[in-house]
Amino acid sequence: MSAWITRIGGLGTAFTAWVLPLTVLASGATATDIAQRKAAVPPAALLEQPLIDAVATRGCENYPYAEPAAFSSGEAILRSDLKRGLQIGLQCLAGNGPMGYLHRYHAEQAGRLADLLASPQTKTLQCVEDKMFATAVATSPNGTSLDDPLYSVLHEARYPAIILDTYRLGGILSRRYDDQTYRSFFHLRDDQILEHRNGQPLRPANLHRYQNRPALMFHEMVHWLGHEHSAIYPDLAHLYETCCFGGSDYISDADRNHDHQQTACMILKDDELWRAGGQPYKQMRIWHHKGYDRLKGEMRNDYDS
Ligand SMILES: [Zn+2]
Repeated sequence: MSAWITRIGGLGTAFTAWVLPLTVLASGATATDIAQRKAAVPPAALLEQPLIDAVATRGCENYPYAEPAAFSSGEAILRSDLKRGLQIGLQCLAGNGPMGYLHRYHAEQAGRLADLLASPQTKTLQCVEDKMFATAVATSPNGTSLDDPLYSVLHEARYPAIILDTYRLGGILSRRYDDQTYRSFFHLRDDQILEHRNGQPLRPANLHRYQNRPALMFHEMVHWLGHEHSAIYPDLAHLYETCCFGGSDYISDADRNHDHQQTACMILKDDELWRAGGQPYKQMRIWHHKGYDRLKGEMRNDYDS
């Protein structure tokens, strides 16, 4: 057993000690409770370098935007994004985030993620260039279905893994379209098409360059817990990203983002909804009845383009 595994082995205990005092404060918090809660920050050990080093990276020299990095290696930037995402995300789920205490179910999810990170299983972050339509995807503990459009990318990666496409992160136009598509949809001249294919790829202003990368990293790690996207039941990856990281990277209007963040945090505090976690049909009914299923659509309406 290598040194880092031994050291990380101790972190699970430290994390439990950090989360558990919070869960008994779920209701009727006094000023003293709140003071204690504020003091209950995650142990620095959880985020110490060996943990981040224990994550294997593959092909991420040009992370994040498919350009050789000027001052720091792509992999160092990736590790720093991962660490920042964990810092903000785990704190938030345990009730130390911008909106205070969430339902205890979310502190439990933070504990599950910390346990997974502390396990000896290799965690892999892999970068690809122009291989997916998605910015990032994560493997699920439930495996990958054959009809998943990302099957060809995902089945090569062993759980738990995250695959990041640096072309999509960078807002770079794909090189995989045919000439006709470049001409009619992107209005490129022939010399531009030639340059795009063989020289510098184009980065049109209307393609989004992803900024809040720690939020993206945390979002993907939530998928490692088996939480998948859905419109008919609570979508945890989306709710956590929106509440803990200030809305969406695709919305530049700060006020609109603030409103969406408030809504997501309010949903994460709803005792009735999370208490019904063991009864999926009941939870789905509450999700719909309270109009929580509208949040994603309302956010999409506020996307920049
Ligand atoms: Zn996702």
